[in-house]
Amino acid sequence: MPPIPDPGPALGRILSSMANAAHAGGRPAARLVAVSKTRDAQAIAAVAAAGQRAFGENYVQEALPKIEALRALSLEWHLIGHLQSNKADLAARAFDWVQTVDSARLATALARHRPEALEPLNVLIQVNIDDEAGKHGCRPQEIAPLAAAIADQPRLRLRGLMAIPAPEPDMTRRRAAFRAMAAQFDALRTNHPDLDTLSMGMSEDFLAAIEEGATMVRVGSALFGPRPPKP
Ligand SMILES: *Cc1c(COP(=O)(O)O)cnc(C)c1O
Repeated sequence: MPPIPDPGPALGRILSSMANAAHAGGRPAARLVAVSKTRDAQAIAAVAAAGQRAFGENYVQEALPKIEALRALSLEWHLIGHLQSNKADLAARAFDWVQTVDSARLATALARHRPEALEPLNVLIQVNIDDEAGKHGCRPQEIAPLAAAIADQPRLRLRGLMAIPAPEPDMTRRRAAFRAMAAQFDALRTNHPDLDTLSMGMSEDFLAAIEEGATMVRVGSALFGPRPPKP
């Protein structure tokens, strides 16, 4: 296998640009989730060796062997892809966070399967903020009842909201979606003051997301390099 280039410099650049964006926007520092879909355990271990703890995966089946292989590193695993209820048991055992909860049914399934030996599962409500047809995530008016249902589950810990805004080439419109999410997050916190996480922003737009109020960004290709095209 060819040697993996040291991801340390890219990680350092991303973290310092994140800190600058937060500072410029008068915002608290945001956390980085390194999106490791399609990357193998060796590439993830190299990023972990550079100091990164939180990793995001889209598919339960792809993630499980990597989580197992890297167990000794005590990394923090985030599920950031859509989760079907029939995989809720696997996800509730293997992940530390599920960022894509968009129904009370899924929340109940995760709560039922979260092992007692583990901390409550951290969850984010995924919001379809651009109201795109066929996209996952609840509608903004469904956030409050879903948050109440999750807060009733002792095996879950509601942390906040997540969104994947439409890949709008016009940055002004993308910022409008981030701003709309920040407003939803602020509104939800009036009833749930402990919420601390607004997850939005990817390689192309994580700095804009932080300026608009993201407290967590999910960055893949800017850190690991371009993803190979899907076969
Ligand atoms: C793939 C993915 C990312 C990261 O995308 P990059 O453009 O590689 O940074 C972030 N969030 C979700 C939900 C993703 O599926």
